Amino acid sequence: MIIGAGPAGSATAIALRQAGVDVTLADRHDFPRDKACGDALMPDTLRALECLGLGDRVLEPALQAESMRVHAPDGTAVDVPGNFACLPRRKLDQSLLEAARDAGVRFLPRHRVRGPIQSGDHVGGARFSVAGVASPQCVGARLTVLATGAAVEPLQAFQLLLRRTPSALALRAYYRVPHSIARTHRHLKLSYDAAICPGYGWSFPGPDNVFNIGVGIFSQGAGRSAIPNLRGVWDTFIRSFPPAREIVSRGRPLAPPRGAPLRCNLEGAQLHRPGLLVVGEAAGTTFPFSGEGIGKAMESGLGAAQAIIKALRDDGSRTDTAGTRYEADFRALHAARYRGYRRAQSWLAWPAMCNLIARRAGPGSFASQRLEDMIQERGDPGDLFSIPGLCRTFLESRPPVTPRR
Ligand SMILES: Cc1cc2nc3c(=O)[nH]c(=O)nc-3n(C[C@H](O)[C@H](O)[C@H](O)COP(=O)(O)OP(=O)(O)OC[C@H]3O[C@@H](n4cnc5c(N)ncnc54)[C@H](O)[C@@H]3O)c2cc1C
Repeated sequence: MIIGAGPAGSATAIALRQAGVDVTLADRHDFPRDKACGDALMPDTLRALECLGLGDRVLEPALQAESMRVHAPDGTAVDVPGNFACLPRRKLDQSLLEAARDAGVRFLPRHRVRGPIQSGDHVGGARFSVAGVASPQCVGARLTVLATGAAVEPLQAFQLLLRRTPSALALRAYYRVPHSIARTHRHLKLSYDAAICPGYGWSFPGPDNVFNIGVGIFSQGAGRSAIPNLRGVWDTFIRSFPPAREIVSRGRPLAPPRGAPLRCNLEGAQLHRPGLLVVGEAAGTTFPFSGEGIGKAMESGLGAAQAIIKALRDDGSRTDTAGTRYEADFRALHAARYRGYRRAQSWLAWPAMCNLIARRAGPGSFASQRLEDMIQERGDPGDLFSIPGLCRTFLESRPPVTPRR
């Protein structure tokens, strides 16, 4: 059984069903439901969709883009080529859930998980409260997957919580602009604007001339009270970052801004217990520095599914090996990348250094190629955000890039 029908839960469910495993998927909401997100689908998300055979189906209504423009604190822009897409989470998550149901997954909407069914230390399913039903519902399962995102309560109820404070808070709003404006903003724009440093902001173009504009602030190492007022940060970003200001001033807001916590860096929770695997943001799979997490949430789900399938095939009744194998494989694949993203985030404490790097990142330069490798996952952020990376960046003879927004 899988709890949580976001990208992590649905990806796990689809991959398991494709291998013939019987799957029940429960969520506290009925779908379609909204989820505060920037809606940017990075190359790892597109790869995960392809891996599930869902690329065309899910991306059909998405806006596709061939580059992302990353802005340094002083506004210097670096274009990073690649395949990107934007699709509101309401549509993405609904489409993934539909694919899961089409594959034969049983979906239980309005099921809020309350805790595990336990025998000794072993998790054998979960207890739910169900909207409109007085008594708690119990669903037994041989293996349970927790995919409940950044919510703290389920992690606590399953005794997995290692840190209550989220890694970051982020807030987004939707604006519809006239087509004449939308067509001049075709890039996804990610900004580390000095006015909100060490936070980040974005302006992502979606389908139907609707833009997703948002900000995020990291709290790593700080208490919740140390996080500045997110709405105030959003206002500052809109005043300071011209592309976002144009969208907001020329556009029509579609709904009040909405915020949510993020759990990053594979920290803050155990990834498994006997009978239980934790995937997606519940396991902290979102990247620090950029706040992107849909792709890694799905990949962790695919990894968990693989480990479960292998355990069911190889070990018969000893399915407990699935959790150990899942965590070991996921960390082996991605631990260095998470360390690199964390280091990149810590460099935002020196905005002048980030500006200098961006000014050396002209097309074809060492810095721009490393940024592209980082986003395409052909290399780690540490290849650029390190002393050797810095030396290569500054020793290369290239004309500086003109700052632009
Ligand atoms: C403002 C903001 C902007 C972001 N922008 C981007 C971006 O542009 N690109 C990107 O890649 N990532 C982005 N992220 C990160 C991304 O949203 C997460 O990494 C991603 O949603 C994680 O997927 P998930 O499936 O693990 O969790 P979720 O998508 O959060 O899904 C969890 C599911 O569990 C359900 N659930 C929760 N509690 C319970 C319960 N008690 N019982 C039953 N069900 C429950 C929820 O209803 C939900 O459906 C952003 C995050 C924020 C907050």
